[in-house]
Amino acid sequence: MLNTKPIVVAIDGPAGAGKSTVAKLVASALRLRYLDTGAMYRCVALLAKRAGLKESESEEVAALAERSKIKFIEDGVLLDGEDVTKAIRTPELSSLASSLSAKPAIRRVLASRQRQIILEGGYVLEGRDTTSVVAPDAEVKVYLTASIEERAERRRKDLVATEHEVSVGELMKQIAERDARDMNRSDSPLIRVPEAMVIETYGLTPQEVAAKIIERARSVTTHS
Ligand code: C5P
Repeated sequence: MLNTKPIVVAIDGPAGAGKSTVAKLVASALRLRYLDTGAMYRCVALLAKRAGLKESESEEVAALAERSKIKFIEDGVLLDGEDVTKAIRTPELSSLASSLSAKPAIRRVLASRQRQIILEGGYVLEGRDTTSVVAPDAEVKVYLTASIEERAERRRKDLVATEHEVSVGELMKQIAERDARDMNRSDSPLIRVPEAMVIETYGLTPQEVAAKIIERARSVTTHS
C-alpha cells in the first residue's frame, strides 16, 4: 500500500550548530512545517523566571508549562498570546532553559506536546532529543555539529541581531557549559543515534548543509 503520511525530518545537535537556519531551509524546500523544540524550553524558562520559581521547583514549573499555550507564528513564537520571540533569546534565558531542560517533569510535558504536534507527520523539527525521544521513527535523522569556535561566532551574530552583545570568548564558555549539561543529563541527553546522518558543518553554507538533508529526504520518499 502507498504510504501517504508526510515525512518527519529530525535534526539534533549542540548549541549554535546552525540547526534552526538549516531546518527552516529544509522545511521550505520540502514544503514541511518547522518545529523549534528549543523555543518551547525557552518559553518555559521565561514562565519560571516571571513566576519567580527556582530551578529546584521543577514540579511547579512543569505545572505552569502544562497550563501555558505556546503557539508558533511566522518567524516567531507566542506564549499565552504574547509575542516573546525576542524575549526568549537572551543569554540569561539560554542558560535557564538549559538548566530547566534537565528536569524530567519539564521534559515530560514538552516532549509529549511535541509528539502531539508532529503526530500527523509533515514536520522538520530540531533540538537535542528529537532523533532519540520525540521522533525516534522519523524518516530522516540528522546530527549537525561544528567546532565550538564556529558555534560561538554564529551565536554572537544572532545575538547582535537581537541587540545583545556578548564576546566570542564569553559565548564559548556559555556554550561549553550548555553542551556539558545537555550531553550529561540523565533524562534524554543529547546523543548521536547510530542511524543519524552526521553533518560537520565546517566550510559549508547553510544551503549546502540543507541540500544534503533534502537529498536524503527525497531518496527516502522515493524508496518508500
Ligand atoms: O535550541 P536552543 O538553544 O534554543 O535550546 C535551548 C535549550 O533547551 C538548550 O540549551 C537545551 O538545554 C534545551 N533543549 C532540550 N531539548 C530540546 C531542545 C532544547 O533540552 N529538544
